[in-house]
Amino acid sequence: MASLQDKTSLLSLPIESLPGEGYRRQQLAGWLYARGARQWDQMTDLPRALRNEWAEQFRVSEFAEVLPYPSQDGSVKYLYTLLDGQKTEAVYMPYPNRKTLCISSMVGCPAGCTFCATGKMGFGRNLTAAEIVDQILFAAYHQGHTPREIRNVVLMGMGEPLLNVENVFAAIERMLHPQGLAMSPRRITLSTVGIPRGIYKLAESGLGVRLALSLHAPDDETRQQIIPTALRYRIAEIMEAVRHYYAQTGRRVTLEYTLLKGLNDHDWQARALAGLFKGLSVHMNLIPWNPWEGAPHQGTPKAQILKFATTLKQQGIPTSVRWSRGQDVGAACGQLALKQPA
Ligand code: SAH
Ligand code: SF4
Repeated sequence: MASLQDKTSLLSLPIESLPGEGYRRQQLAGWLYARGARQWDQMTDLPRALRNEWAEQFRVSEFAEVLPYPSQDGSVKYLYTLLDGQKTEAVYMPYPNRKTLCISSMVGCPAGCTFCATGKMGFGRNLTAAEIVDQILFAAYHQGHTPREIRNVVLMGMGEPLLNVENVFAAIERMLHPQGLAMSPRRITLSTVGIPRGIYKLAESGLGVRLALSLHAPDDETRQQIIPTALRYRIAEIMEAVRHYYAQTGRRVTLEYTLLKGLNDHDWQARALAGLFKGLSVHMNLIPWNPWEGAPHQGTPKAQILKFATTLKQQGIPTSVRWSRGQDVGAACGQLALKQPA
């Protein structure tokens, strides 16, 4: 029998291209995306002979192993070992009225942001569309939910989604498809460090998902200290792409701003940010920096975070502070580095 890696991944196939004709294909899609089957023998209403035939050719799951790490606050970090032995992570966050999953688009990340543990790891590889979608399917299964009960997905885990556009867009198509996860595009957020050509592609794609931009500074000088690699584009260029995205989609853009002590948390920077976004519909999420071992930064003290937020609000920018979850298991924003919690 062929090894799992040699078989065709079912989740890699567009839903229209799943095996089987008409009703049988719909049944298979239902098992994968609506009922969350992870093994062929769960698909009891498919004839056994057909299941055996398909099981020879196709695989249902993308992981060799998954380890869950529950946090005291109810969130759970999942550490996935992929079939080639590489690893990636996702974080499940239950809230009273919604369940959110933060998923990864890469193993590691090439952007190298100095405050981010994933950036420090460097780039491993792009995840396939199947590996991206299966993070959701597995987490739902492990939580005892059907896949469609996970109603919110944020692409804010490991990696830069707009440097893996083809696979990320294919994964989003499976999430949106009525026979896939049947999600609303408004409940999917793609977060980018600001890759202009990727933002244009997202605008043209018609996928309709939300865009979050991780800006981290209103000026190129400060940003250069935070993102020291060639993947840092000029703010003017990023803003042009964001304005195009807004003109094309009419969608409010979320801004992500991780506050680093003495670097990007000055009052003048809050005012400069407000100037940058005049006339655009945006929402600012201020993220208190989450520490990790060996990081060359300190977080902004709480009083200064609140002052920065107040200045932004006074300048007309709707602003929230996003206190992180899952710190105790290394699941908070930017802590994903494949370290197994103690
Ligand atoms: N590469 C994409 C998506 C993954 S990072 C991006 O950069 O947007 C998702 C978010 O986590 C980013 O907004 C980033 O600023 C934030 N982040 C990374 N490291 C962090 C840390 N140590 N503390 C707080 N937020 C962090
Ligand atoms: Fe990559 Fe985002 Fe981390 Fe920067 S913050 S290194 S872009 S994952």
